[in-house]
Amino acid sequence: MTDGIEFDGYGPERILQVYNPKVGMKGFVVIDSTALGPGKGGIRMTPTVSVGEVFKLARTMTWKNAMAELPFGGAKSGIIADPKHMSKEHKLEVVKAFSEALKPVCPDYYVAAPDINMAEEEMRVFAKTNGSLSSTTGKPEEMGGIPHELGSTGLGVFHSTEVAADHIGLDLKKARVAVEGFGNVGTFAVEFLEKAGATVVATSDSKGTIYNSKGLSYEKLMRTKKELGSVTHYGEGSQVLSTHQILTVPADILITAAIPDLVHAHDVDGMKHKLIVEGSNIPMTEQTENFFHQKGILVVPDFVANAGGVISSYVEFIGGTKEQMFKLVKSKVTKNTEMVLKASEKSGETPRHEALLIAQERVLKKCKVCNVPAPKKSKK
Ligand code: NAD
Repeated sequence: MTDGIEFDGYGPERILQVYNPKVGMKGFVVIDSTALGPGKGGIRMTPTVSVGEVFKLARTMTWKNAMAELPFGGAKSGIIADPKHMSKEHKLEVVKAFSEALKPVCPDYYVAAPDINMAEEEMRVFAKTNGSLSSTTGKPEEMGGIPHELGSTGLGVFHSTEVAADHIGLDLKKARVAVEGFGNVGTFAVEFLEKAGATVVATSDSKGTIYNSKGLSYEKLMRTKKELGSVTHYGEGSQVLSTHQILTVPADILITAAIPDLVHAHDVDGMKHKLIVEGSNIPMTEQTENFFHQKGILVVPDFVANAGGVISSYVEFIGGTKEQMFKLVKSKVTKNTEMVLKASEKSGETPRHEALLIAQERVLKKCKVCNVPAPKKSKK
């Protein structure tokens, strides 16, 4: 059951495996840390989800929530099922059984959210079965939910980019930006960048990359995607390239907003950006980030730049409004990006290194069960 889990001085604190043979529900929740509050993290439903995979995601949530100064610990859960091969009714039965089985820990130690193959309807069933609106975020609007479509993560990624550009003396109004992935995170990032006067020269989707040195229009990108299915049909003399070529089009800033594992060590030499902002989760390894650091290219780490989504979840959790969400995403992501970049400049270490130190320090201050020596401050 604990295959793939690396137990250490932080956790995971609790792992609960649940099974309902009558409904065909099999799943688990990994609550990595509750030092700062109930563990917060989404439910992932896939046929291959494993405890090891869920543990890694739960640990990331521990750092992301601590970094965003939210009263949440880190957690994540998984249901082993293939929604492509089950009816909608059966899927909801499985979610109901999962929620019922998680009652001993939810919402006291675990607060759920949607992740892969989970959306508002599933969260409605989860909350209703649990009996508490605090059991999950991502609920429908009439239950107090704050919709994903408001673009909280993309907004945060934009503010993080704004701060980081300023930090390196790059004027956004003169900057050329490439945005990998024109989905939920990417579309909002493009919209806000355009409003701020930046020139978005390239974006991509699963079909390929579209590049135009004169710039792409947000409105036209949205229309093209909606009407023709892919940004690659943009036209106007733009070049259509492969998905991976988003990394090498001439741009000052690269924002990642699609797939994990996008950039590899062998890509680093060919990349001439001044700034990379990780809107997606784990677009590269820590080692690849170190290579960029040595090259003098600033990389803002995922759990700092893309915290807008979980900040929005927190506003939903406390019964707040979308206006409060926009304000809090801006203030938190701006403040935290500034803090991390200043610390990195002072120490000479990477922004990820400094962000982790800050998050770990916050967790250790409140943790009653941790067994970790106080993190060492960088020497420089
Ligand atoms: P999404 O499904 O809305 O959009 C993903 C986009 O990426 C789609 O347009 C898809 O066509 C495109 N894509 C797929 N394969 C691609 C490829 N090889 N190259 C270029 N584009 C490709 O997803 P999203 O919600 O925007 O999430 C994007 C990333 O951000 C994911 O890594 C996700 O884990 C992360 N993230 C999302 C949120 C959030 O609130 N949505 C929060 C934190 C992190």
